[in-house]
Amino acid sequence: QLGVNRSTVILAFAELRSMGIIESRSGSGTRVSQYKWGATPRHTPNWKRYAEGGSFLPNVPFLRRIREALSQTPSMIDFASGELSGDLSPMNEIAMLMDEHHYTSYLGYANPQGYIPLRQALVAYLDQYRGIQTTESSILITSGSQQSLFLITQCLLSPGDAVAIEDPSYCYSLPMFQSAGLRLFRLPVDRDGVRPEDIRTLYKKHRIKMIFTNPNYQNPTGTFLTDERRNKLLEIASELGLPIVEDDPYSLTDYEGEFCPPLKSVDPHGNIIYIGSFSKIVASGLRIGWMVAPHAIVERLADARQQMDFGLSVIPQQVAAQFLISSHFEPQLNRLRMQLRYKRDLLIEALQKELPGLIQYNIPQGGIHMWCKLVPEVNDAKLLEEGIKKGVVFVPGSVYGSDSGYVRFTFARAKEEDIGPGIAAFAEALRELIK
Ligand code: PMP
Repeated sequence: QLGVNRSTVILAFAELRSMGIIESRSGSGTRVSQYKWGATPRHTPNWKRYAEGGSFLPNVPFLRRIREALSQTPSMIDFASGELSGDLSPMNEIAMLMDEHHYTSYLGYANPQGYIPLRQALVAYLDQYRGIQTTESSILITSGSQQSLFLITQCLLSPGDAVAIEDPSYCYSLPMFQSAGLRLFRLPVDRDGVRPEDIRTLYKKHRIKMIFTNPNYQNPTGTFLTDERRNKLLEIASELGLPIVEDDPYSLTDYEGEFCPPLKSVDPHGNIIYIGSFSKIVASGLRIGWMVAPHAIVERLADARQQMDFGLSVIPQQVAAQFLISSHFEPQLNRLRMQLRYKRDLLIEALQKELPGLIQYNIPQGGIHMWCKLVPEVNDAKLLEEGIKKGVVFVPGSVYGSDSGYVRFTFARAKEEDIGPGIAAFAEALRELIK
């Protein structure tokens, strides 16, 4: 019995091959080559060490496992991806705009701050739909809100800076903050959102430099920050001179079509950097996001964009600008809200039918997520694996930096007819673990 495992032998052979000491030919095996002693040895770079280098931490293993399961099994019912299903995006309308307009008339580099007609369209959109008055010089177009968060953490903060984040918090922001070397302090979210007084405590203890919040139909809890807490949050931030990053992809998805003013629309002392996105209202694949911030900040971040990627491709920016000013935008919002509410109701119906007494939740009034507490105690990893076996994925709560014992179901991605069977499969997986 050899005390070496197979992969060590394979690696050793690869190394000998790279040094020219052995040669392999398909069909005739491996032999010692006519190695000339004294010749300069050749080496393959240690790619594994490079792959572990750099400043980016890998994503949470659960998220990688979910992605893998989705790509291996196309029939998997998806309550994990925070995305709209294809039928919720205005595919036909966008195809029509692309036929009508000649998007290829300009194919040079775009302005790194963003294509001017899109910024102009956003000035009108922000005023009409979000109650935010701004100018095109205060808008930066980004590759989704993800890039806005990235630019803020990389360009406006330094390693070692302390920031306040929600607990639980948007899962793809966590490794990004950690990769930037930030110290993260948590603001617990209850059914009314974060408690603003907690900010004062964090400031006194850790001198936090920035607050990250997703106050409108929060990911993952679906909570909407109450008016009283909004006012208090703004009051405390202005008292301490602290910037608030308001990440707001969901406020336009209010199911009743109520006007849900973002914090930025009442920001008397200019504390808010506002982040918006097309992803949850139109289509995530266009990668259209925007930031509204003081001009000096926008200019600084646009300069960084120039170093990173010369700005976003002009084509999706042209499509987005046309879509925003077209007669398709408002009907898209109305249809989306109605269908999201319908999918939420299907999910609740399935949870009531399949998991009575086993799950607790608050009913969201907007957004695409439902945050559920599991009554029985189960291991997150085992539950996910069991779910995958039964053909359903969801996100275990611990991914959001909070305690285990929670699950996030996103109801926008799955097909309507899959929601019931998906929850039935989840219930089977859960029962498997508690029997
Ligand atoms: N922030 C929050 C709160 C989100 O839920 C998401 C998407 N799940 C993002 C940012 C990133 O979205 P995008 O880059 O597609 O705009």
